[in-house]
Amino acid sequence: MDYPTIVKPPTEEIAVRPNLTDYNSFRRTFTWDDVRKELSGLPGDGLNIAHECIDRHLGTPRRDKAALLWEGKDGSSESYTFAEMAHWSNKAANALRSLGVEKGDRVFVFLDRVPELYFTVFGALKLGAVAGPLFSAFGPEAVRERLADSGAKVLVTQPDLWARIHFIWQDLPDLKDVVLVCRRQQHETQPHMHLWQALVEHQPDHLKMERTGPEHYSVMHYTSGTTGKPKGAAHVHEAILGHYATAKYVLDLHDEDVYWCTADPGWVTGTSYGMFGPWSNGATSVVYEGAFSASSWYSVIQKYRVTVWYTAPTAVRMLMKAGEETAKKYDLSSLRYICSVGEPLNPEAVMWGLRAFGLPMHDNWWQTETGCILIANYPSVDIRPGSMGRTLPGIEAAIIDENGNEMPTGEEGDLAIRPGWPSMFRTYWNNRPLYESRFKNGWYVTGDRARVDADGYFWFVGRADDVINTAGHLVGPFEVESVLIEHPAVAEAGVIGKPDPVAMEVVKAFVSLKDGYEADAKLRRELIQFARAKLGPAVAPREIDFLPSLPKTRSGKIMRRLLKARELGLPEGDTSTLED
Ligand code: ATP
Ligand code: MG
Repeated sequence: MDYPTIVKPPTEEIAVRPNLTDYNSFRRTFTWDDVRKELSGLPGDGLNIAHECIDRHLGTPRRDKAALLWEGKDGSSESYTFAEMAHWSNKAANALRSLGVEKGDRVFVFLDRVPELYFTVFGALKLGAVAGPLFSAFGPEAVRERLADSGAKVLVTQPDLWARIHFIWQDLPDLKDVVLVCRRQQHETQPHMHLWQALVEHQPDHLKMERTGPEHYSVMHYTSGTTGKPKGAAHVHEAILGHYATAKYVLDLHDEDVYWCTADPGWVTGTSYGMFGPWSNGATSVVYEGAFSASSWYSVIQKYRVTVWYTAPTAVRMLMKAGEETAKKYDLSSLRYICSVGEPLNPEAVMWGLRAFGLPMHDNWWQTETGCILIANYPSVDIRPGSMGRTLPGIEAAIIDENGNEMPTGEEGDLAIRPGWPSMFRTYWNNRPLYESRFKNGWYVTGDRARVDADGYFWFVGRADDVINTAGHLVGPFEVESVLIEHPAVAEAGVIGKPDPVAMEVVKAFVSLKDGYEADAKLRRELIQFARAKLGPAVAPREIDFLPSLPKTRSGKIMRRLLKARELGLPEGDTSTLED
């Protein structure tokens, strides 16, 4: 794919001087110990994420600065300073303690993106409990499985969501108490059910925090379920070093930034970068409770004068579908820096950012398991569109073969990371053998396939499960999908390998179209020709089907395994994270 490199101006010419000015020299001198020194820690080698995000700012001028700018889905808004975040998280902690929550207990939240979600997570962390945020669109089975697997002791939820799942309580012997946040509706109580307002508001705002150390569990997150049944990745308090450093050097957060991470805390991005990254850096973070639409998102940026924006390829593709003209109707001049994560960012999307916002999108790569960004594009480093960028200083990544040996530059293999970075998951909950199976020859094997070029830029090929073997060629779905979405008619593309007696597999694509295009045989032929011209006949799709939209996880990832199961008439497997 022949996209030109996006060359960055010298750092003196960048309006806000990047926190990372010289990648190569920073990489040589970086140590995690230096990062640790920028945080405050707790007496006796203690470390607590909530303390680093909130309480450590109280003795500084940040105390009365807005930490959380909340925009409700009904158009109401609220703002909380760091001091107010401390006040409310202390009260939440005391409330949880009054229910018997102790260090190590799991406290789950199943809430819309309301302020109480954030107070509860920090309250739980201050008690040394393990916080588990769940996405509010989940159905009863998805919630039941996660609460059962984690053995959650308390669930904080809200009346409409509770109405959806209340009957699962009888199957959850570990779930002792349910707390309801009644912002918009009232609710009756019953034994072991509490109303947030009654339980929390009279609590003292002074808290005796539990002592936690770097290796104590902090949060657990279930993976997105893109390739199979979601796994519960358990993280520790030391992860804050990773959140802090990456929010500083990759997201480039500065004190004066108004930052917006569009991810829900039910996915690791919404926790690591919707809370921990920005707040440990003392930045102001916007939370928008409402759902996606191009106009509502642009309105949020315009209203709050968002400067740094962290979003996902699926959202970018939807904004592209809404068109550059829609973007131009809003005053988005506050934006200075845009990042993306979650799926491969098609090069076309990087270029579209330049046209629509005058800014390129900066892709970065990580997983629920890695806890923080590990491969990234940076404000001061040139972008090669289609590449995930270069490794975070302090991280060693490589492409390895099936025996765990490093492969020559440019060759495709398994993306692997040298274990030992602070935010690495410490286990899959209740599944130690699966955790251990992810390590080989001294590497953590990510499950993604990639290449690295001579300058250290990593190029995503596909998930190991999704790579297609056709007539002796290994084809990554991303490459084919990226070409298809360059065609003006195509909004989204998902590519699979379909078993074939001769070629082993043939490449089959599923596409959804932009408004105004007709799904017919003529367009199908045109798309196949278009892809052949760019990719060659061996790699271009042999078959294309049109779908109104592609099956995606609730976090917006294309579920190729479902496309394949449906194509072959096989069981669909775990669909707990499938979007409606
Ligand atoms: P599951 O593990 O349950 O199948 P998942 O892997 O989608 O779900 P997450 O941990 O949310 O769960 O996502 C991490 C994965 O997302 C990565 O392993 C990778 O496949 C993909 N990903 C994330 N960022 C990028 C990126 N910038 N480019 C390409 N792929 C990415
Ligand atoms: Mg995964």
